[in-house]
Amino acid sequence: MKVARFHAPGDIRIEDAPEPAAGPGEVKIRVRACSTCGTDAKILRHGHHHIRPPRVMGHEIAGEVVETDVPGWAPGDRVQVIAAIPCGTCGECRRGRMTVCPNQESMGYHYDGGFAEYMVVPAKVLAVGGLNRVPDGVSFAEASVAEPLACVLNGQELARVGDGDDVLVIGSGPIGCLHVRLARARGAARVFLADLNPDRLALAADRVRPDAALLGGDIADEVLKLTDGRGVDVVVTAAASGAAQELALRVASRQGRISFFGGLPKDDPIIRCDSNLVHYRELTIVGANGSSPAHNARALELIASGSVPVADLITHRLPLSGVLDGIDTVIRGAAVKVTVEP
Ligand SMILES: [Zn+2]
Ligand SMILES: [Zn+2]
Repeated sequence: MKVARFHAPGDIRIEDAPEPAAGPGEVKIRVRACSTCGTDAKILRHGHHHIRPPRVMGHEIAGEVVETDVPGWAPGDRVQVIAAIPCGTCGECRRGRMTVCPNQESMGYHYDGGFAEYMVVPAKVLAVGGLNRVPDGVSFAEASVAEPLACVLNGQELARVGDGDDVLVIGSGPIGCLHVRLARARGAARVFLADLNPDRLALAADRVRPDAALLGGDIADEVLKLTDGRGVDVVVTAAASGAAQELALRVASRQGRISFFGGLPKDDPIIRCDSNLVHYRELTIVGANGSSPAHNARALELIASGSVPVADLITHRLPLSGVLDGIDTVIRGAAVKVTVEP
């Protein structure tokens, strides 16, 4: 079968590999859709300290069961696979904080991922309820977007996005688009979307129709104008940008919540934070680290119910041989979501 394998930074190869077989307690699937994201672009350029090459990439996975001895699963079942695998047994997991499990492993990092015709779902995924049935009416391509949506859901739960909130999302890539859609589903009053890249912002705004699309420069002034000087209840930084995080501190309202959703480059993670703003305005700053198995299940429900439509966010569908083109399209900001159909 064909796979897309990471060998080293800048070196992802489409190559032949033997079809994997499901061992005891594992489920073999025919991958039908595996979406690409900014993380794949990061891995392509810089590698990742958790990836031991060669490794089949791809962590936004949906497919069809072809072989298993696990009770409850049968060939033909349509499934979605979690990306981050918590251990399920450590202190954090036992407290229900699976997103911050210190023993977390990931599909496409520790285990071969979904840029392949066939893939084996590890027993560890099944042990934590990480294999989900795809609801009727949800396509494989849509189901592959459940994983990033699950991460967005985790971020908005932690930032308590809810009824009547004015929300600013900084960064209009696929994650930013999902944040806009989910904030609306959670009852936000107005959602603003900001970016420095005019093409990406225009493409995103055309799909998700924010109440205002704010381009570069004076985002802070614009936000304050739009909110009569009050600022927004929630700011989500969906970009690997310290400047975006510093901006968030300036445009959050009193008692505002700030989600540092996107991580910063490892070698440049320090920002300037006016601690008195946090103190006097009673700001809450929260992080977000992936998603739990339960978030993935709920993301599928949000897609199935129509609360968070994702079909129109998939702007490109490519065969496995197009993985590199797909990642390049993501890097250039010329796509919202690129889905590979192996
Ligand atoms: Zn991803
Ligand atoms: Zn754990």
